[in-house]
Amino acid sequence: MRLLLLTTTTGYQTRAFVDAAEKLGLAVVFATDRCHVLDDPWRDRALALKFEDPKGSARIVAEAALATPFDAIISLGDRPTATAARAAQALRLPFHPPEAADICRDKYASRARLKAAALLVPEFLRFPLDTATDELSASVSGSIGFPCVLKPLALSGSCGVIRADNAFELGVAFKRIRALLATPEVRVLREGANEFIQVERYIEGTEIAVEGLVSQKRLQVLAIFDKPDPLSGPFFEETIYVTPSRLPAESQSAVTRTLEQAVRALGLCHGPLHAEFRINAQGIWVMEVAARSIGGLCSRALRFRAPEVEGTISLEELLIRLALGENVEQVRREDCAGGVMMIPIPEAGIFREVRGADRAAGIPGVEEVLITAKPEQSLVPLPEGASYLGFIFARGRTPEFVEQALRQAHRELRIIATPALPVV
Ligand code: ADP
Ligand code: CA
Repeated sequence: MRLLLLTTTTGYQTRAFVDAAEKLGLAVVFATDRCHVLDDPWRDRALALKFEDPKGSARIVAEAALATPFDAIISLGDRPTATAARAAQALRLPFHPPEAADICRDKYASRARLKAAALLVPEFLRFPLDTATDELSASVSGSIGFPCVLKPLALSGSCGVIRADNAFELGVAFKRIRALLATPEVRVLREGANEFIQVERYIEGTEIAVEGLVSQKRLQVLAIFDKPDPLSGPFFEETIYVTPSRLPAESQSAVTRTLEQAVRALGLCHGPLHAEFRINAQGIWVMEVAARSIGGLCSRALRFRAPEVEGTISLEELLIRLALGENVEQVRREDCAGGVMMIPIPEAGIFREVRGADRAAGIPGVEEVLITAKPEQSLVPLPEGASYLGFIFARGRTPEFVEQALRQAHRELRIIATPALPVV
C-alpha cells in the first residue's frame, strides 16, 4: 500500500509520518513544492507540485496515480491542504472537501463562515495592504474598537499577530505586518489572502487548544490542551500546552459541542483538525479551526491506545489509519497527563548553544529536551519569527505536575546567542 505525503518541509513532522507509515507497512511517496531546492534531501521519486496552484497540482497527483495508485493521502501543515483535498476528491480517497480546506486556510473566510453559523467570533474586518493610516484608524475606531488584534490571513504560529490598544499602535502594527508580508519568504508563497491584513476585536479569556479529527463527518476530540501562560499580547508566543485540561467537565463538553457546530459550518468531513478557543463570561469564542494536526514536534505530547493495537499509537499513526479509512472511534489518549513547552526565542541574535539541557532532561517527569535551532542560525523572535528554539516534553500523573516539570526544566536552560550583525 502507498501513502502520498504532501509537505513543504523535510522536518521532524515529516519524519514522524514516515516512521508511522513504515510501522504500518506503507510505502511513502512525497509530493512537494520544494523539489527545486537543491540542498533538500528529497528522494528522486518525489512529485513536484506547486501548492499555490491546487487544481493543477491535483491533476499531477491524479496522473501519477494512474501508474501507481495511492491508498491514502496526508497533508502536512496548512499550505498543501487545498491540493490534498482536490487530489483526494479526484482519487476518491477520504479527506476534507476542497471548499472546507480553502475556507480553513483563510482567516477572513473562516471567520465569516463561523459568524454566519451564529458561533461566537470576534468582530473582524480586513484591509488591503495599501490602506491609508487615517482610513484604517477611522474604520477600526468606528466599529471594532480597542484593544484589537491585527493579523495576516494565511500565516501561522502567531507570526505577524499583534495586539494594538489605540490608534497609534494600530498604525504601527499595520506597517509592521505589511513589511513582513512584503519579504521574499512570504511573497514566494503567492497566497492571495496575504494581500490583506485582518483586524479583530481583542477577546479577553482563557485560551485552550483542541486536537481532534473528523471521521465521516463525525468529530472526535483527541485532547483538550490548557495553555497556562497568559496570552495577552502584544505578541502571542505559544509556550506550554498541557493535557488533560483542568477546565470543569461542563466547559469541556461545551467546547466539544461548539467545535461540532464549527466543523459542520466549515464543512469539514474527514481528516485532522486543530482548533483554538477563548473562554470568558460571554461564552466560548472560536479563535481558529485549522484542517491540519498540531504543528512541529508538539504531537509527541500525545500518545494513544486502541483495544486491538499493541503498544501506543502516535498521532501520525492515528492520522494515517484515518486516511486509510479505518474506523478509529475506539482510539483514546493514554491515561496520564502530558505536555510540551515550545521554547521561545528570547531575543534576536545568532544562536550558539543551549546550556543546561542535561539538567533540564533530568527533572522528574521530563522525557525529552530537544533543541531544534542550529548553531549559527539567526534567531528571530515574534512577531516576525516563525519558529522555536526547541521543545521540552513531560509526562506524569497530573497536569499540575507536568506543567511544573516543564517550567522547572525551562529554568535550567541557558540560551547562548550573540548579537546579530547590523545590516550594512
Ligand atoms: P496563528 O494561525 O498564527 O496561530 P491566530 O489567529 O490563531 O494565528 O492567533 C494567534 C494567537 O493570537 C491566538 O492563539 C491568540 O492567543 C491570539 N489572538 C488572535 N486573535 C485574537 C483575538 N481576536 N483576541 C484575542 N487574542 C487573539
Ligand atoms: Ca492559532
